[in-house]
Amino acid sequence: MEIQLIRIVEDTTVDGPGWRTSVYCAGCRHACPGCHNPETWPFTAGEAVSVADVFDRIAQTEGNVTFSGGDPMYQAEAFTELARRITSELHRTVWCYTGFTFDEVLADATMRRMLPYLEVLVDGPFIAAERDLDLMFRGSRNQRLVDVQASLKAGHVVEFEWDPRPKF
Ligand code: SF4
Repeated sequence: MEIQLIRIVEDTTVDGPGWRTSVYCAGCRHACPGCHNPETWPFTAGEAVSVADVFDRIAQTEGNVTFSGGDPMYQAEAFTELARRITSELHRTVWCYTGFTFDEVLADATMRRMLPYLEVLVDGPFIAAERDLDLMFRGSRNQRLVDVQASLKAGHVVEFEWDPRPKF
């Protein structure tokens, strides 16, 4: 199984709390006006890398992991396998950005298989009219930090509560 990979970025702080490793993939059909990464839209951008090789590269980094793009949900099968290995073998948490809403992911037989391995799904398309620079880890107000495990348990979307204050 392969991932069409744009790049892996270490020690980033913009894609979730803490120092993280972000995996940027190719391929997105949402075509949000104002998207910051239109060069990632073609599904042929970047290079095809096996899930095992992507996992090995992540294993050499530290910190929790974020999937972004493009939209990783268009490569849901490969990213599900990657998320499964990251959580079970590295014991790290995974966030995933997607232009689909949580309900759309849940309704899709392939995409929803990734959910058991995700801490947070940052969901929904970027909507320029709802852009807000004060939001943490997302670009527009319609997008949510979905606490995936709490949402699955509750049967409705529960938003992730993030406290940026240092813990003593
Ligand atoms: S879902 Fe993300 S990558 Fe895709 S068009 Fe929208 S903002 Fe760009």
